Amino acid sequence: MKTYFEPAREIPVRAEVDVVVVGGGPAGLMAAQAAAADGHTKVLLLESRSFLGGNLTIGLPILGFLGPKGNQIIRGAAQQFIDRLRAKGAASEHKACKLHMSLTIINPEEVKRTAFEMMKEAGVEVQLYTFVSDAIVENRCVKGVIIESKAGRQAVFAKTVIDCTGDADVAFRSGVECHKGDKDGGMQPPTLMFSMKGVNIPALRKAIIESPDIYDMDRMPKEQFARGNFITVGLRRQINEARAQGLDIPVSRTILISGMADDEIWVNMTRVNGTDPTDPSNYTRCERTAREQMMVVAEYLQKFVPGFQKAFIEKVAPFTGIRESRVIVGKYILTAEDILNRKAFEDTVCLAGYPIDIHHANGSDCTLTYLDDAYQIPFRCLVPAVVQGLLVAGRCSSMNHEAMASTRVMSTCMALGEAAGTAARLALQKNIPVSELPYPPLREALLKNGALLG
Ligand SMILES: Cc1cc2nc3c(=O)[nH]c(=O)nc-3n(C[C@H](O)[C@H](O)[C@H](O)COP(=O)(O)OP(=O)(O)OC[C@H]3O[C@@H](n4cnc5c(N)ncnc54)[C@H](O)[C@@H]3O)c2cc1C
Repeated sequence: MKTYFEPAREIPVRAEVDVVVVGGGPAGLMAAQAAAADGHTKVLLLESRSFLGGNLTIGLPILGFLGPKGNQIIRGAAQQFIDRLRAKGAASEHKACKLHMSLTIINPEEVKRTAFEMMKEAGVEVQLYTFVSDAIVENRCVKGVIIESKAGRQAVFAKTVIDCTGDADVAFRSGVECHKGDKDGGMQPPTLMFSMKGVNIPALRKAIIESPDIYDMDRMPKEQFARGNFITVGLRRQINEARAQGLDIPVSRTILISGMADDEIWVNMTRVNGTDPTDPSNYTRCERTAREQMMVVAEYLQKFVPGFQKAFIEKVAPFTGIRESRVIVGKYILTAEDILNRKAFEDTVCLAGYPIDIHHANGSDCTLTYLDDAYQIPFRCLVPAVVQGLLVAGRCSSMNHEAMASTRVMSTCMALGEAAGTAARLALQKNIPVSELPYPPLREALLKNGALLG
């Protein structure tokens, strides 16, 4: 590749704060709120998009509040967020599900409003339209970040930086070792979510309940579709029929999620294999392809799935959602074996129980490995192995490919974010590096805010 030598230049310091949180998705929102919880820690939340919420805004239900045994395994700040939404009629109950453990439907637009409200209440300063492009590192310690915006290139200094970018952007730029995907680098493919309105949902329910042999639902009993919210995963026969008639459906299963309105369904069925979101030209190809696929999937639903004959595309998510990209190498790397053996840790910050759900990097299918009960995630998964002054929360925490296929759901990311923000706050209070924070006060603070740690 041709290169250009960019001359060094002096840039303005935009802010000097206690904690800077990068990325306002499920992990980042909880991290910022928890860091600011004592009322005097100065917290700045930086977000590249025009709204807060990350993947909470793309039409997905939150999975994993309930564990494999049906009991609630995540509370704390994540539950408080749901309670706020529920008070506005913008979130459902946690509905038990044989395949997804639980689903909690949320209203994406209300998430955006509520996120602002929460940050204001917590005293977190929010700056949107700000891309974090680099890290300021001295002697292997992160001192802040470099931001790019319409205001130009600026520096932000912080005593602790929390990377909640999903792609471990700050960690990567700080020199933290990162990995992508399986042993061949294959990553779970992304999906552009979209909603359809005008769906005759009673007709869809009726078909599944009355003809389960035709309208198959992987693992889920037909009774699950009688009332309340649902996610369909199945209708493989319909996809095969559509493919036989020339429709190029990118997935093997029909994944439909009931929305907040009576005739609304969110569709999780586009899939662009080979996408690397850390390469913008590749991600651009993904966006273009996903939009083409969306039209084919909508046609499939209208022609082959009961209830969709008069349905039309209503909303399209603001970006194609990324399931997997970089993860960091932390002080501990969580593995599938840890999850399946339910390994006990002395520094547990969160319970999780969602299956190991791997959308294959190639082809159109997915493998799910179910768990018997909830497992633990240690604080060390948030702490980079070498670099100091930095925590990494959310889907880019320290997990291998298989483990992150379970930990990636949003309830877990929120709980990890809360743990990171709480740790940053406590470390500042004690005037110690966050990586040296002893576990007992962290545990005590998380439990005090309602966390379930086993
Ligand atoms: C198609 C799809 C379906 C899924 N289905 C479900 C589901 O049904 N239920 C469920 O619970 N989970 C689901 N997941 C998983 C879940 O959505 C993600 O794993 C989770 O949202 C990750 O949370 P996060 O906070 O780590 O990252 P994100 O939600 O990705 O948030 C990251 C935030 O950081 C910002 N950002 C990134 N880089 C920068 C930067 N350099 N500078 C400034 N800001 C930056 C982004 O704009 C974004 O707001 C799905 C994921 C996908 C893609």
